[in-house]
Amino acid sequence: MNPRAHADLNALLKQWFGHDSFRPTQRQVITDTLAGRDVFLVMPTGGGKSLCYQLPAVARDGVTVVISPLIALMQDQTKALADNGVACTVLNSSVEPPEITRREHAAVDGQFRLIYMAPERLMSPAGARLIEQLNIALFAIDEAHCISEWGHDFRPEYRQLGTLRQRFRDTPIMALTATATPRVAEDIVAQLHLDNPAVYRGGFERTNLFYEVRRKDRTSDQIVRYLTDNPDHEGIIYCLSRDGTERMAQKLVQRGIRALPYHAGLPNEQRHQNQHDFVYGDCRVICATIAFGMGIDKPDVRFVIHADLPRHIEGYYQETGRAGRDGLPADCILFFSHGDRAKLEFFIEQKETEQEREHATWQLQQMINFAYTTGCRCVPLLGYFGEQYPGACGHCDNCRNPPEMQDATEDAQKLLSAVARTDQRFGLGHVIDVLRGNATEKVARYRHDDLSVFALGADLPVNHWRRVAEALMEADQLAQTTDQYPTLQLAPGSRAVLRGEADVRIVQPRVLKAKREKPTAIPDEDLGPVDLDLFEKLRQLRRRLATEQAVPPYVVFSDASLRHMAQLQPVTPDTFAAVKGVGDHKLEKYGSIFMDAIREHATDVEP
Ligand code: ADP
Ligand code: ZN
Repeated sequence: MNPRAHADLNALLKQWFGHDSFRPTQRQVITDTLAGRDVFLVMPTGGGKSLCYQLPAVARDGVTVVISPLIALMQDQTKALADNGVACTVLNSSVEPPEITRREHAAVDGQFRLIYMAPERLMSPAGARLIEQLNIALFAIDEAHCISEWGHDFRPEYRQLGTLRQRFRDTPIMALTATATPRVAEDIVAQLHLDNPAVYRGGFERTNLFYEVRRKDRTSDQIVRYLTDNPDHEGIIYCLSRDGTERMAQKLVQRGIRALPYHAGLPNEQRHQNQHDFVYGDCRVICATIAFGMGIDKPDVRFVIHADLPRHIEGYYQETGRAGRDGLPADCILFFSHGDRAKLEFFIEQKETEQEREHATWQLQQMINFAYTTGCRCVPLLGYFGEQYPGACGHCDNCRNPPEMQDATEDAQKLLSAVARTDQRFGLGHVIDVLRGNATEKVARYRHDDLSVFALGADLPVNHWRRVAEALMEADQLAQTTDQYPTLQLAPGSRAVLRGEADVRIVQPRVLKAKREKPTAIPDEDLGPVDLDLFEKLRQLRRRLATEQAVPPYVVFSDASLRHMAQLQPVTPDTFAAVKGVGDHKLEKYGSIFMDAIREHATDVEP
């Protein structure tokens, strides 16, 4: 690209979107798109996909038709665009017919840069008539994996999008997705008949996310503690079951934390209300099944907690990807115990075909490797997406605070003999009772207090024994049945341990964690300290403006913008325009009211 065009793109970026620079992949995609090429873009959630078609849309004539399956997402995006002064509209089932007609006329009249449509509307006779009359610069197909039956979110209404290419031979198509295994990727390109597309895979590493895996042990207490330590943080807690979300929300509410459940079993209205409350900041924590999150564009989610092990890394990545979309630090905490594995294996056994079971087992194994690794978590995480990551990310628990290993061979032998002596008929809880010499009713009933292993490990805590059992299970040196009451059994590798031919090592429990520092890798954070008082005042102002306009607070300004404002403390339009996320339109709309607040703050704090 010539230098002139380069400068022009940067100017447009600042003018319309308020950003100072492109992320690496964005510029390439935009250049190809403006050159009229088909593009296939795989970029993780929060990577900045929408800019890749929004910027071309303001850069040239014609209208960009954006196809998205998610009504909420369409609405959020058009609100945000409108707030940046970009003419755009939505055509979907949430809009009343007379209003649809009005918008269609305006569209034909060339009044919009972008039109967001659900696929079924685009493919309906009315939709077909409409798009015949438009001067279309680009079709942008968001969530493109929905077209593939191999993906995790196949939507039949997406299938028909395959006919677009025949009907609009000369209009470029951009397909965008956050998830595409090679098989799904191939399928998308084939189904949409993309013509020699430029294929981009954006960086999957999210340097502002801190990944941490914790042992499942009084999980809700640990969560309350986290929430108390981080009183400003809003976020999502994912639970495996509907029940789990309700219970978690209830526990948090009892501790005075504004929390709501979200799952597919709630009445529609309730579910929408809870989601709305979360997005608008009226509820601090949403406790959800994986039904939550698709299409939620809340950039200031400060944490995503998994209270149960997810089924696969793809889901885990996508769910954690909802944290920190504004680029500010956010926490991803996964709670894990070996029992989760058994639960998920039970689900896998219910699957119909052998092929499905094998695939699901493989996926689960990758997830477990992530949970158990003592090395950099980004290696298994990004490795899943085909990225050969060198490690030492600096933003995971293991990198920040490397785990120490401890020899547990002797304890492992004790545990295995306890399993053998109790005839491989009991679960872990009972075996630990025997080892610790607990005089339970069950111990008495089976006379297990007569065994030589009884009370052999009385000096060690329950958690130690759990860790030993988990290490053995991971190495196939101990097995656990997957039925409703799992029992421990000897495994092929048990013998070697019992004979002293194999060593067993476990991770030493971390002593009360020193408060970790925030990640160092936040871009553009070296502008000096943030005045937290002012930041809080600006947040309140934003809240008020958002409520007045009935939009979520981040539509007014992102946290990142407010932080930058609290650093720069601009009081002239020129300096205000330098704030991240401030374009011409926002400068005009909000500049003076925010500058007033900054001036007022300055006089408040003056001696
Ligand atoms: P995706 O659709 O890939 O999930 P979005 O397009 O919603 O991601 O972008 C995620 C966030 O990143 C948004 O808050 C957006 O404003 C921000 N963003 C996108 N591009 C840039 C950029 N070049 N500079 C700064 N922030 C950006
Ligand atoms: Zn790491």
